[in-house]
Amino acid sequence: MDNLDYPALGFKCGLEIHRRLKTKKLFCNCETETEETPKSEIKRKLRAVAGELGEIDPAALHELGRGKEFVYKIYPKSSCLVEMDEEPPHSANSDALGISLLVSKMFSAKIPDEVLFMRKTVIDGSNTSGFQRTAIVGLDGKFSTSQGFIGITNISLEEESCQILETRDGETVFGLNRLGIPLVEIGTAPDIKSPAHAKETAEKIGMLLKSTGKVMRGIGTIRQDVNVSIKDGARTEIKGAQDLKMIPELVRQEVLRQLGLLKIKKELENRGFKREEIKIIDATSVFKNTASNILRGKEIYAAKIEKVSGLFKEKLNDFRTLGNEIAGYARAKVKVKGIIHSDEDLAKYGIEKEFDELRKILGAKDADLVAIVAADKNMAENALNAVINRVNALLDGIPKETRRALQNGDSEFMRPLPGAARMYPETDVAPVEIPRAIIQKINLPETLDKKLARLEKEIGKELASQIMASDYLDIFEEISGKYNVDKRDVAAFFTNTLPNLKVRENIDADKINENVFMEIFALLQKGRIQKDKIPHIILQNYRTGKSVSEIIAAAPKISGKEIEDVVKAVIAREKTDKINVIIGEAMKELKGKASGKEIAEAVKKVLGK
Ligand SMILES: [Zn+2]
Repeated sequence: MDNLDYPALGFKCGLEIHRRLKTKKLFCNCETETEETPKSEIKRKLRAVAGELGEIDPAALHELGRGKEFVYKIYPKSSCLVEMDEEPPHSANSDALGISLLVSKMFSAKIPDEVLFMRKTVIDGSNTSGFQRTAIVGLDGKFSTSQGFIGITNISLEEESCQILETRDGETVFGLNRLGIPLVEIGTAPDIKSPAHAKETAEKIGMLLKSTGKVMRGIGTIRQDVNVSIKDGARTEIKGAQDLKMIPELVRQEVLRQLGLLKIKKELENRGFKREEIKIIDATSVFKNTASNILRGKEIYAAKIEKVSGLFKEKLNDFRTLGNEIAGYARAKVKVKGIIHSDEDLAKYGIEKEFDELRKILGAKDADLVAIVAADKNMAENALNAVINRVNALLDGIPKETRRALQNGDSEFMRPLPGAARMYPETDVAPVEIPRAIIQKINLPETLDKKLARLEKEIGKELASQIMASDYLDIFEEISGKYNVDKRDVAAFFTNTLPNLKVRENIDADKINENVFMEIFALLQKGRIQKDKIPHIILQNYRTGKSVSEIIAAAPKISGKEIEDVVKAVIAREKTDKINVIIGEAMKELKGKASGKEIAEAVKKVLGK
């Protein structure tokens, strides 16, 4: 139950949505949808260059604190010298540019006279060049939702970064196959009214993008970031909401977290808390003979923080306490396992006695909190200093930060929010002029309202709303437009059969090539296969990699007479005349060699009905 009054809280929320386009790479001719394995690798150490404007922003500084080497895996079909940053980028892919302009027009955005690519500094290694290329293709658009218009501040065409394949000590391994895939980025104004409205907004943007028929589908092809703030709070960017369903919970928990932090700020002021510096002591000897297995024999450092006792166990939202939040912040800076503090249940660790002793050594009063870290001196000092820095910052209210969405609807600290001084012009890519005549010629797809009304007529209300929300909307339209098959069968396949196979047979349906679906429905149209054989064919194709025609050719032929024999045997064995039971048993016996329809006919014949 949500009992928060969002307007009264000064709730502000906007979305940033990234979606991959179904084209080749943005700045070279490499493939974007392959199942290749890497064939070689290169190793790089990224130079810590400041942006050409001179200033290193806080996000960049945060990454610099963690010296790293980068390994890039090379994929023959989906990476070339451009991805390796050994050849300048080619001119922007015209298909991708065209799709991004179409999207801009759909959102009634103002398209610039010239598309100019910029460099956005990225020093986490996910771009070999040290920056991401991005260009604005639309500004100041809007679209309607049930709660009024949502403004679109910007639509951009940009390149995807590398994905992390592995992190090991001081080294991150990236894949070059993903680098350079075109993305369209849509940023909304903070016009969203509530958590549920955030979901509706994301869903509608998704449908509009899908209705172009030119965006990729599946996990990873879409990224949804949510920006949230409340009155006296600050903008937090929550990254990586994979599932639409999670968006309302993410937003709500973030509002609660900001409210919780504001409450703690007030409490600190009431307690007369002033910014502190801490004195860190070596507490190894105190824990020398401790009963705690996780601490015994470890190097341990401790500090007291005055006047904050009790606050670390305050709940910020449904999932995290202030202690969790601060530990997460320290962990993002220093890779320490555990920070234990006096607001925790010390009996659980069996270290009450040790903490009593520590209090004496540190001269800690009841109102003071004591924290320990088990790590070497340098790491422990960094971790405890991160803790006190975060505690001191509580006086400022909510820090502007980027957080990572968690599965349960909560989020955790990633890094400070990047500053604005990150962009400078990409001189290797020529600007693209966009004549007004070209924009006028762009044909808009059918509007969502019209599409829904048409589909409701064609396949009924329920299937229509399901297929509209489905990732397979575009391929459904393509198949049902191209082949003379029952559209309801096609819709039911994508909204029911395929999701069921995903769950029951544990297959990754995103990996099935669209041509497989096309081929299956082409054969269905010709009467070469029966509807109920489709799951079997999909599974065979998925598991063996055999083509649809190979699978059908390999299917053992069976005569009507043979089917009848099986049916007779089943009736004799089961001693029943219940048609459903007989069909069910016969199907098991025939293992897909005959369709349900053929078996049903045989049963009727045998039973003389
Ligand atoms: Zn390439």
